[in-house]
Amino acid sequence: MPVNIAVVGSFVTDFIFRAPRRPVKGETVVGLGFDMAMGGKGANQAVMAAHLGARVSMIGRVGNDSFGDMQIKNMARAGVCTDYVVRDPDLGTGAGGIVVDAEGDNSIVFVPNANGKVCREDIDAATPAIESCDTLLVQLELPFKVNGYAIKKAHKLGKRVILDPAPACILEDYFYEYASIMTPNETEAAILTGVRVEDADSAARAARIIADKGCETVIVTLGANGAYLLHQGRGERLPPVQVNAVDTTAAGDAFTGSLAVFLGEGLPMREAARRAGIVGALCATRTGAQPSLPTRAQFEAFLAQTRES
Ligand code: ADP
Repeated sequence: MPVNIAVVGSFVTDFIFRAPRRPVKGETVVGLGFDMAMGGKGANQAVMAAHLGARVSMIGRVGNDSFGDMQIKNMARAGVCTDYVVRDPDLGTGAGGIVVDAEGDNSIVFVPNANGKVCREDIDAATPAIESCDTLLVQLELPFKVNGYAIKKAHKLGKRVILDPAPACILEDYFYEYASIMTPNETEAAILTGVRVEDADSAARAARIIADKGCETVIVTLGANGAYLLHQGRGERLPPVQVNAVDTTAAGDAFTGSLAVFLGEGLPMREAARRAGIVGALCATRTGAQPSLPTRAQFEAFLAQTRES
């Protein structure tokens, strides 16, 4: 039986401009290249879970525009159900304008557009998807109260709720109560707890503060340094796998989306988190967001290699 996952989250179309440097006020810089890519943390996590073979429903909003068409086609191509994606009649699809300079540093303008209109009624309309899922995945790119409403609803239905608290912000206490698992990166863990997270020890302190507020499992992702797992009071560092990283965009989404699938397949937390770390590492070896999300076959091949080495 496939794992069933519901994702309450964002759709964002990324417009990526590569330039020798980022323009200053009033300046036009001649760029080196342009790409458009389908993204949004919610959409990325949905695609990741589908790549690993899960049955995935996406719950969110796109505009009634060509970018909305592309997002929906993109979900269909990945095998994600879009029955609960609403076409907003007034606002366009979420968009991000990203200028990346020669050093790889970027400046971003993010316009939430239709993502900002996702409402409680949208979540209620998606009740069948939430009722039939094993796990609900939520991030923080939709209106705050809607995220809260979704996790409360799933919690009441007895579902596992994984909250990726990204982009970073302070959360009301009830988020910790309804989310069984949280997966902050260093920055997000620091903002949630006030602890400066720079290594496994500080990650352990931050994870403890989050767990004390009610979360059963906290995984602080540490990029090239792996992750720190605190599960049912027991903490341990999860070492990274060695890869040749070229672009860590969406590594966190790869981690969280795959974690949901591995847990749904019945793996114990530690092994599920270890495998999710491998998926995150694999994602970092390729450029872009969704194009860098590995398939099941790519993951299995890499897993076999890491066993041998
Ligand atoms: P985010 O994108 O949210 O900042 P991270 O960069 O922490 O997330 O990546 C998520 C996970 O992916 C990490 O915990 C780690 O397991 C894996 N990962 C990411 N980058 C690398 C890397 N350069 N080398 C090995 N593993 C990585």
